[in-house]
Amino acid sequence: MVYADGRMIREPADLKNTLTRDALTDKLGRPQRSLRVSVTDRCNIRCRYCMPEEHYVWLPREELLNFEELTSLIDAFTFNGVEDIHLTGGEPLLRPNLATLVRMLRTNPRIRDIALTTNAVLLAKHATELRDAGLHRVTVSLDTLQPDRFVALTRRDNHADVLAGIESARRAGFQNLKINAVVIRGVNDDELSGLLEFGRGIGAEVRFIEYMDVGGATDWSPTKVFSRSDVLEKLGQKYGDIEPLIENSSSPAERFKLADGAVFGIIASTTTPFCKNCDRSRLTADGLWYLCLYAKAGFDLRKILRDGATTEALISRVASVWREREDRGAELRTLEKNRSAFISIDQLRKDPHLEMHTRGG
Ligand code: SF4
Repeated sequence: MVYADGRMIREPADLKNTLTRDALTDKLGRPQRSLRVSVTDRCNIRCRYCMPEEHYVWLPREELLNFEELTSLIDAFTFNGVEDIHLTGGEPLLRPNLATLVRMLRTNPRIRDIALTTNAVLLAKHATELRDAGLHRVTVSLDTLQPDRFVALTRRDNHADVLAGIESARRAGFQNLKINAVVIRGVNDDELSGLLEFGRGIGAEVRFIEYMDVGGATDWSPTKVFSRSDVLEKLGQKYGDIEPLIENSSSPAERFKLADGAVFGIIASTTTPFCKNCDRSRLTADGLWYLCLYAKAGFDLRKILRDGATTEALISRVASVWREREDRGAELRTLEKNRSAFISIDQLRKDPHLEMHTRGG
């Protein structure tokens, strides 16, 4: 295979005929399509549902993969069916020269879509260079339109920066802009229509996300979850009939249409998990591969890579691990009685890989 930058990657002969996208599935018959790549575990805000503590244990900087290492690993994933790359963090725009990584990824002809999920605090500075580098899509996390509430939620005073970042992304020409809003009962559940109208005004699709109990969500409790049905009921009271869109997609968002044509999504990971269609996994900035957001252990691909593994060996390793995958963490959580936070603070202190900001939420 010849990459756009002229590199030749030899497709392993023994894998060439067996690793077709239909052939490689996990134990539950799920193909591998999407890889969320965390490029840093650091974040510049402190959302209470993700990073509620005062202090954190960070990944040692020398253990972070450089861009060559990252693209080598991603190459191995793309030989195994991955075609969508989501760059996440922490906050991915804290990683210096992210546009360079995007440019490197764009040379891989197997990658169909490169998306960035960001809190947009730094987006105004980087939107144009990322667009020029070939980034396809941007999703912005924004839970409130109220500056004071933003400070209370994130413990940082950057609401205006986020709005400027969103505007810059529009100006830079990003289509299919998405706004992700985590909805927490009693915190921002009074902003559903406001967020929806904001999205409509800027041509972005808003997705309401149920509060999840993963990683550092140590304050999580079932009573704080504003569920899929709560969202539909509340928006139905304001807008009338809501029509579900029937789509053949493995996207985590269910999409709905209002009578006036506005489309929005709900990601109901907590009450209505979509594990049976889950085609995604996560790579941390230091090269650990997690097969599920709820997985407590990952596979150390950095070690294999730094020990000198060949491209063929990496491809084989990714294939063999995926074939054994049977994770369905969110589904299993729904079966638990007296459900509370998934991971304790003590466990998070001992292993920062358990944090959502480390593995890309
Ligand atoms: S809980 Fe795990 S298996 Fe289920 S959708 Fe999330 S990442 Fe996929």
